Amino acid sequence: MVTVAVAGGGTFPVRRIYCVGQNYRAHAREMGGDPDREFPFFFAKPADAIVPSGGTVPYPPMTAQLEHEVELVVAIGADGVEVEPEAAPAMIFGYAVGLDLTRRDLQAAAKKAGRPWDMAKGFDHSAPLGPLLPAAEAGPMHAGAIWLEVNGARRQSSDISELIWKVPEIVAELSRYVGLSRGDLIFTGTPEGVGPVVAGDRLLAHIDGLPELGIAIVNGRG
Ligand code: MN
Repeated sequence: MVTVAVAGGGTFPVRRIYCVGQNYRAHAREMGGDPDREFPFFFAKPADAIVPSGGTVPYPPMTAQLEHEVELVVAIGADGVEVEPEAAPAMIFGYAVGLDLTRRDLQAAAKKAGRPWDMAKGFDHSAPLGPLLPAAEAGPMHAGAIWLEVNGARRQSSDISELIWKVPEIVAELSRYVGLSRGDLIFTGTPEGVGPVVAGDRLLAHIDGLPELGIAIVNGRG
């Protein structure tokens, strides 16, 4: 069982990881999308892709373009099917800072060929995740700075108030497609400024009010 640390003590067992694509307007534009015409969409990563804060990410095989995406992550604490947005906040266990690491070259090739994104998004070590802060302490997370630094240089900087789909809407919409249960994580999308990382880079991810996430990229396997 994969678990993540809870700030203040304890652990949270992880069941599934879902991710939202293109949920900030400026990022949708930088990826060639049109945020006024295309709805955000979902994809998944395996639960054992999680790397805790302070950990290392071996540079993955089969890519020459590993990119960072800093994201607000929602942890689901209760079962829910076809829930209304108004009912979603009561299902939320807590929040964390996450990185949706992406093999951008494989994603671009998959998009072009109309093929699945699994190998672009769901590879080993592709989901670094900071400690979870319980919702009672985090508050509603409507607004707050979100940023990512690589070796001390700011690469991504926005505010979670810029999310196209807000957290309750994301939870409600995803619950129309799959039954949500305690242990599910939802990566809510990244703001603009995504870019490549290489072995030796140190990444620091931040969202106001949440425990920070720090990881290092190291030389890959073999
Ligand atoms: Mn993402």
